[in-house]
Amino acid sequence: MTRPAEPASFDVYHDRFVDLLVPGADLEHLADGCTWAEGPVYVEGEQTLYWSDVRSNRLMRFDERTGVVAEAARPANFCNGHTLDREGVIVACEHGTRSVVRWWPGGRRETIADRFEGKRFNSPNDVVVASDGSVWFTDPTYGIDSNAEGYQAESEIGSSNVYRVDPASGAVTAVITDMVRPNGLAFSLDERSLYVADTGVSHVEDGPRHIRRYDVDLGAGLVTGGGEVWATCPEGVFDGFRLDVDGRIWTSGLQGVHCYEPDGTLLGTVRLPEVCANVEFGGPDRRTLYMAANTSLYRIRVAVRGAR
Ligand code: MG
Repeated sequence: MTRPAEPASFDVYHDRFVDLLVPGADLEHLADGCTWAEGPVYVEGEQTLYWSDVRSNRLMRFDERTGVVAEAARPANFCNGHTLDREGVIVACEHGTRSVVRWWPGGRRETIADRFEGKRFNSPNDVVVASDGSVWFTDPTYGIDSNAEGYQAESEIGSSNVYRVDPASGAVTAVITDMVRPNGLAFSLDERSLYVADTGVSHVEDGPRHIRRYDVDLGAGLVTGGGEVWATCPEGVFDGFRLDVDGRIWTSGLQGVHCYEPDGTLLGTVRLPEVCANVEFGGPDRRTLYMAANTSLYRIRVAVRGAR
């Protein structure tokens, strides 16, 4: 059962965070019963939020106009992260097929990438599409480590990398190869930086639970430098994140959703009763923050719009 809306609670570290909040905004609990809610993506034309229930192998949907929650697909190839391409078509990471795909309502689908140098990916986790149409995604092993969220298998590639798919040729290149378990990712607004979360603490004692920032030359399709640790998660791990129109990063964590300025200053936290995995801005004005958190989907209204 979903719970009644209640006043949202926040940790405020800088007054600037208050300006991003809607006074008296409620935390709405929209859906429950998930086993690992992840990968939310908002489709404006449908006023619908899709998200993954990874361990139950389901794709879920929430219709803003009717408030109805429904299964959009089951089984769902153990889908995880989602985004939209430049035409507004949904792009999905699938642990089950170990690929990144594009799909349309009605069942048509197209594989964007399923191999690197002839070897199958581990289990693509999260994905972004740049303004030139190139597709950038992370490939940790969570979907092949066990049968919990995919199909257990040995890694063919032997490492967990970030890849780029060329929009013209479809060629796949490994652009970041120095992470333990790359996870969520997003470009800065000017697309000169790529932020990538590393959740490697899941596999390495005292391992990474931070976001690193890399320099990108989008025209050349290359990561040219950087890689410094940009922020370390206060508790738990950062998984997925999105930017607002001013370039702030809203990222998941153990306590809820943390909001950072582009220079890495933590402004505040939207508190959730469950561990958050990923977020997405939605609503016709993109001022609704959706939060996929363990068993549930939550939302609050905020005073800043999400970036496209
Ligand atoms: Mg993820």
